[in-house]
Amino acid sequence: MARYAMVLDTRRCVGCHSCTVACKVHNELPVDIIYNCVTTVGPTGVYPNLQMVHIPLLCMHCATSPCVDTCPTCASQQREDGVVFVEDRKCVGCQACVMACPYGARTMNHESGAVQKCDFCKDRVDAGENPHCVNTCHQKARIFGDLDDETSEVYRLVHGEKAVRLLEELNTEPYAFYIY
Ligand code: SF4
Ligand code: SF4
Repeated sequence: MARYAMVLDTRRCVGCHSCTVACKVHNELPVDIIYNCVTTVGPTGVYPNLQMVHIPLLCMHCATSPCVDTCPTCASQQREDGVVFVEDRKCVGCQACVMACPYGARTMNHESGAVQKCDFCKDRVDAGENPHCVNTCHQKARIFGDLDDETSEVYRLVHGEKAVRLLEELNTEPYAFYIY
């Protein structure tokens, strides 16, 4: 069984937001819902040695996912391959998962009454394709694959490039890895 992960290589990200837009368009998201935003830190340093870093964000598909644990109707679920998703018809809109997620990865859709989030484009992944954000990134800053496959690029990057995880101290075991 695969264990899917995404690597975000901030050395390559130029903050163009193409991934954000591709995700919104292909997933037909309402104006006020974004699955993959890109935040910019900086400039830092002292002129002329200034630096800016762009950090693409998304659902971390945590191995120990408080959103899944807290959902009273089991609408929030995790597949064996690690993908965390919401089964719309089971969601009652209580937003317990929104409050439980420390990464701000979930948004209430007030029109449908269900919470929404990134699901790694699971239908595409099942068909052997990459998520839309990965395909769109011309910088190749988003890399997706099976972390259990030692020949995969995500495996090589996570184990060879000192990848870090956000808020690791919370023990949610995110499967989004950052390279700085
Ligand atoms: Fe960064 Fe790639 Fe997204 Fe552009 S498309 S913001 S380079 S991750
Ligand atoms: Fe759940 Fe938030 Fe982790 Fe995604 S980032 S799996 S929504 S706790």
